[in-house]
Amino acid sequence: MPLLVMKFGGTSVADPDRIKNAALKVQREVERGYDVIVIVSAMSGKTNELVGWVEQTSPLFDAREYDAVVSSGENVTAGLMALTLQEMDVPARSWQGWQVPINTTAAYSAARFVDIPRKNIDQKFAEGFRVAVVAGFQGLSPEGRITTLGRGGSDTTAVAFAAAFGAERCDIYTDVDGVYTTDPRITSRARKLDRIAFEEMLELASLGAKVLQTRSVELAMRYKVRLRVLSSFEDTDQNSGTLICDEDEIMESKVVNGVASSRDEAKITLVTVEDRPGISANIFAPLADAGVNVDMIVQNISEKDYEDHPGSVTDMTFSVPINQVERAKRAMEDARQAGHIAYDELVVDTEVAKVSVVGIGMRSHTGVAARMFKALADENVNIKVIATSEIKISVLIDRKYMELAVQALHDAFELEKA
Ligand code: ADP
Ligand code: ASP
Ligand code: MG
Repeated sequence: MPLLVMKFGGTSVADPDRIKNAALKVQREVERGYDVIVIVSAMSGKTNELVGWVEQTSPLFDAREYDAVVSSGENVTAGLMALTLQEMDVPARSWQGWQVPINTTAAYSAARFVDIPRKNIDQKFAEGFRVAVVAGFQGLSPEGRITTLGRGGSDTTAVAFAAAFGAERCDIYTDVDGVYTTDPRITSRARKLDRIAFEEMLELASLGAKVLQTRSVELAMRYKVRLRVLSSFEDTDQNSGTLICDEDEIMESKVVNGVASSRDEAKITLVTVEDRPGISANIFAPLADAGVNVDMIVQNISEKDYEDHPGSVTDMTFSVPINQVERAKRAMEDARQAGHIAYDELVVDTEVAKVSVVGIGMRSHTGVAARMFKALADENVNIKVIATSEIKISVLIDRKYMELAVQALHDAFELEKA
């Protein structure tokens, strides 16, 4: 039988009524003749609550126990979804990660898929079950412990199952009706896209558009999964939502197709670091060892001499996720104690946000940076750090201007117009 993967996010399974609403969508596909693998998130707010409890109990927590706690929300919704389907006379069975088993790496709290053996679920389908409800976000490490896939990980579970089971499509049901030119909660001028290229979606996701987890887009691109984002709360059909597809399936494209923002950023500056070979390595190796995800990095040696520092010195600025500031600080202080690096002061700015513009067209167009900086200047927004790649430009700014900047850039690149 043809197979579909349908994933329901937190707001789509927030209570028994919402679960029923989602189950009706599943039932409809079963009636159309599909076997369905349903991937569920935890009820909305649940994972945040669990993470909060872990951090309150142990600020520098053991990631194995973090995973044991935060994976639990999905177990509840998987069971409830299976029960709801059974009540509708749809033969359904729930699956926790270890029962499949969903084999992952041992990178607790940020694990990656290794493989998903089909045997157990295929056997249940052969017995007449029509739906396998799988708890998203979780897996099993080689040592037999529960892992989680990073926040938003159920999207990736869905794509991985679609790839492993050769699904006709992977439908991500959520609380918006597709992928927009920017977060529709920030500006009502955001426009829904019928299609978006994998590369652009990948950038938008990694730059903060949480509608899809980055890794899910990566996997869909690699395994050629037909990936779609659509609404759980509206009537949907074959053409609803946004298709994430190859660049050549898209007719019209602009230089910039999307604006992404991320408020969970922090900026760390090491003031007056020596300027000599090996210093960067001595700074970023301990950060990597501590599991800190460094994003933007700026180093610029002043051409001016510092009176109290013989030889050349520089400041080193980098950005990290805001919840990794303590880890980063500790790694730097330890490296200083050990004599591997020297700096006068470590300055943390936790009031920053990152705003980015994304577009494949940037590969062949100039002037995008100038237009972006002009739009920000017109709103009096100061840029603290800039980073660019082939198809994106990102800036770090004061967090209080984030929404303003998103709107200004959305206007400047005329994204509301098709
Ligand atoms: P779910 O719980 O279903 O996984 P998420 O909260 O993870 O849902 O993702 C959906 C949210 O992503 C939307 O409510 C929206 O605010 C946000 N979002 C950010 N950027 C975009 C974008 N470009 N297009 C659509 N939604 C976006
Ligand atoms: N519940 C998990 C989270 O909030 C995974 C997911 O919903 O995708 O990150
Ligand atoms: Mg999500």
